[in-house]
Amino acid sequence: MFEKIDEKVKNLAVVIFLSECIGAIIGGIVVWKTADDYGFLLFLAIAGGGFIAAWINSLIVYAIGEAAEGTKYVRPLCEQEPKQESKETNSKTAPAAVTHKPDANSMTLVCPKCGTKNDVARVFCIKCGERLS
Ligand SMILES: [Zn+2]
Repeated sequence: MFEKIDEKVKNLAVVIFLSECIGAIIGGIVVWKTADDYGFLLFLAIAGGGFIAAWINSLIVYAIGEAAEGTKYVRPLCEQEPKQESKETNSKTAPAAVTHKPDANSMTLVCPKCGTKNDVARVFCIKCGERLS
């Protein structure tokens, strides 16, 4: 229903403009025929004023349509931002995982008590039995 709201609002602006112009002209003609003097001037004033009012009204409605169309182009940009952020966080976590690997690849744990190099998998020192982790 609201999928092409910008086009609908713009069409509505045209409808408002035409209907208000026709209304102003009809109203002007009615005044023209009923007024004794200056009938044509009253017609011009009402039709002209109605035309300006119709133009302003339709312009406001058209501007709303333009704004609705504008959000259509802004929305995809807003939706892309979280994706770019997630890519950045992925790239940030990736080096952290890489820097953690050398620790695991060294495969040795130096005993804090006797200084003997022990296998990473070991919980206690192979020489003195000190707890390594
Ligand atoms: Zn030890």
